[in-house]
Amino acid sequence: MPIRSATIHGELASVIRVLSKIRDLVGPGRVDEFATGTNGVERSRPNVGMYRTRRSFGVIRPATVDQVCRIVEYFDDPDLPIGLHIVSTGRNWGLGSAEPARDRTVTLDLSDLDEIRRLDIDAGFAIVEPGVTQGRLAASLAGTDRMLNVTASSAHTSIIGNGLDRGVGLRQQRVDDLLGLEVVLPDGQLVHVGWWPEEGRRTPLYPYGLGPSLLQLFVQSDLGVVSAAAVRLLHRPKAQRVIRLGFAPRNLISAVGALRRWVAQGLVGGVLKIYDTVSAASYGGSAGGFLAHLCIDGTERSVAAISSLILEEAVSSGLFTDATPAGREAGGDAVVAMVEGAYSGDPSYNDGMLEATLGQPAARVDEHGLGWLFFLPLVPFSGEDIARAHGLLAQVHEETGVRAGCTVNALNADVIDFVVTVKFAREERAAERAHRALDRAYELFSATGFMPYRLDIDHADWVDRLSPDPGARELVRRLKKTLDPNGAIARGRYS
Ligand SMILES: Cc1cc2nc3c(=O)[nH]c(=O)nc-3n(C[C@H](O)[C@H](O)[C@H](O)COP(=O)(O)OP(=O)(O)OC[C@H]3O[C@@H](n4cnc5c(N)ncnc54)[C@H](O)[C@@H]3O)c2cc1C
Repeated sequence: MPIRSATIHGELASVIRVLSKIRDLVGPGRVDEFATGTNGVERSRPNVGMYRTRRSFGVIRPATVDQVCRIVEYFDDPDLPIGLHIVSTGRNWGLGSAEPARDRTVTLDLSDLDEIRRLDIDAGFAIVEPGVTQGRLAASLAGTDRMLNVTASSAHTSIIGNGLDRGVGLRQQRVDDLLGLEVVLPDGQLVHVGWWPEEGRRTPLYPYGLGPSLLQLFVQSDLGVVSAAAVRLLHRPKAQRVIRLGFAPRNLISAVGALRRWVAQGLVGGVLKIYDTVSAASYGGSAGGFLAHLCIDGTERSVAAISSLILEEAVSSGLFTDATPAGREAGGDAVVAMVEGAYSGDPSYNDGMLEATLGQPAARVDEHGLGWLFFLPLVPFSGEDIARAHGLLAQVHEETGVRAGCTVNALNADVIDFVVTVKFAREERAAERAHRALDRAYELFSATGFMPYRLDIDHADWVDRLSPDPGARELVRRLKKTLDPNGAIARGRYS
């Protein structure tokens, strides 16, 4: 025990020293130090998932990229055994919010770096910093020929934070929006990877570069701090219509078959979504059975033609109920309002759905209201596989008493992002049951081959067992050792 407390004291002294230098660098009000008073490492910070609060030494909120470089340099020190945990807006609700995966870190909160540095509507890109929210960028594109691929989460979430965690928007997976990244490497050097605009000449938006493509090294990664991103702005369709198709659970396999055929033939734009009854109710909507949302977009005439073709086929198949073309009022249904707005790049209904879901606005979700967990496996796009995945949720329900909801997001004609949600009362026993259900979902889905593509902070240690080749994991560790020998950046959820 004396050795342990001596170690904590040694660590504490070195962290206090570096935080004091950083306070001089960034100025007053930008460093919260939890190191004094207690043994320096405990603090109670609620998060909506009720994940265990990690032991932390403090939070730094830099105001400039130059400060970020200097801060990272301070942490690139062999005598400082503490690394930085990075957040953009820290609203990774359901996966741990702003909480790090590991104990004993200092959080680098980049939400005050919130400049839209450049907006090029003609070329189709924006350069944004980590604190730029999807709501702000989307609003600045209103009335233009371009739009942002927005998610269903709050308008107050970060474009960079979500993209770096491979989040999913209504148009495509957010990582596909990333054209280039400005990265502070663990030694403090600033580099641009992928595509980046050049002064004085116009270059095509091509993220892969020449040679090994470096952009993906910094996605779900602890190899660098992303201080800005070049983000793709999508062409705004001339016309858009959302078709809603309900179907009964007994028709799941055949209905998914029909939906997949339309996606595979290129008739559906964006990410097709299917809510089950539990998830629709969780998000403040209403659906008896399953409800699919299909976005049809293009020119006025192509949208009219494709919509009537799909509606005709849907009716004649006899599989669907409630075949509803666009234009019908949301009628207070939070999910319908959100989906219809978000397909067109407008996240202004998202916060209504968030409040209907969790009973709180974005700023209070982590402190008050209901508890919430996400489990995010990928499932092959087939009726049989989706039915199998629902069967696994039924087993989780049977074993734990927790009934999870599920939303299907079709990433393409072959891959489903099968979003599992668990909503619970915010008290110890309900949280314990919800987490037991989450653990069980990890076990059952991964044993079936339905691997999660994003991890929560409690399952960071699953990354090895979820990866097909241990040699590839070893390569990641070699890269970490080479690029960050002093652990300036703390090991994250994926290492
Ligand atoms: C009702 C509801 C609906 C939701 N809908 C969606 C949805 O449709 N799609 C979806 O994807 N999610 C959804 N979410 C989950 C979540 O809210 C979003 O993914 C959100 O965008 C993540 O929070 P953030 O943007 O603040 O990112 P952050 O929490 O700031 O970042 C996420 C992670 O990325 C890494 N990171 C962040 N910034 C940096 C950086 N600058 N450099 C290096 N690494 C960094 C860190 O590991 C961090 O933990 C939803 C949640 C709720 C409650």
